[in-house]
Amino acid sequence: MTVLALDIGGTKIAAAHVAPDGTLLARAEHPTGPAPTTTLRRLVASFAVPGLTAVGVGSAGPLDAAAGTVSPVNIRAWRGFPLADAVRRSVGAVPVVLAGDAQCMAVGEWWLGGRDVTSLLGIVVSTGIGGGAVLRGVPILGTTGNAGHIGHIVVDPDGEPCPCGARGCLETVASGPSMVRWALARGWTPGGADPADTAKALTAAARDGVPAARAAFDRAADALATAIRTTTAILDISDVVIGGGVAAAGALLLDPLRAALARHATLTFQHDLTVTTTSLARDAGLYGAAALALIAEGAALRPGSVPRADRRTASA
Ligand SMILES: [Zn+2]
Repeated sequence: MTVLALDIGGTKIAAAHVAPDGTLLARAEHPTGPAPTTTLRRLVASFAVPGLTAVGVGSAGPLDAAAGTVSPVNIRAWRGFPLADAVRRSVGAVPVVLAGDAQCMAVGEWWLGGRDVTSLLGIVVSTGIGGGAVLRGVPILGTTGNAGHIGHIVVDPDGEPCPCGARGCLETVASGPSMVRWALARGWTPGGADPADTAKALTAAARDGVPAARAAFDRAADALATAIRTTTAILDISDVVIGGGVAAAGALLLDPLRAALARHATLTFQHDLTVTTTSLARDAGLYGAAALALIAEGAALRPGSVPRADRRTASA
């Protein structure tokens, strides 16, 4: 039993064969490019080997799980794109499970992040903010497949307009571009930084102690803490994993985030809230997509293990 996992984003499309014990058997990725359908078809065709039993797909959303379609904000060529059908055309009539990319990150970290927890909340903080959850071993995908849109929890009802139409969503405060915009408005200048990489420049400035940059991180951490305590109050989850480019800032984000949670997460079952950064980095989504395909086939996955390759390294 080998499944194909796909991780589809605005920048790249990645594919991997994954065995039920978490061994990554083959992996490849291509830039999404201006013709995402062609990129997808070529990549999937090269992974369409005999013996594939299911396909798990993590895609930027929103999506319609029942219809098998996606409309990723960052892939403009795809609006209501029949992703599941497009995959099936290359691999044949096997089950195709479709989920959000951040949902897959959460499921991947739960399965192979080495945490040994039954429940987990995953948050991806990048150009946008997404999330996903596993509750007592069951991935929470929602009625239409869109559960986990933590980026659109309102953290400031009088805040900035969000592209979703509401005001003051978490994403308007704590996404990379939102943090950059806020710091620029307070006098921070990115100097000679690559305009496509101002979030990295902001991180470097915060490390150097530039006040507006530090304040942008503290503000984002506060907003994330609000979203985390809201979500964990509803779901009763103690383990939170943060991934994405902004999370790479590490302690700059995590220290004020943990401090804010210690101050404000007051319910007794929230006292043990643990926030860590991703263990699987860029492959978390692929492992999660594989996990969803394996679960759809009836596999009972055991959380708390680590990817096979890591295990070999550990015993060497
Ligand atoms: Zn919003």
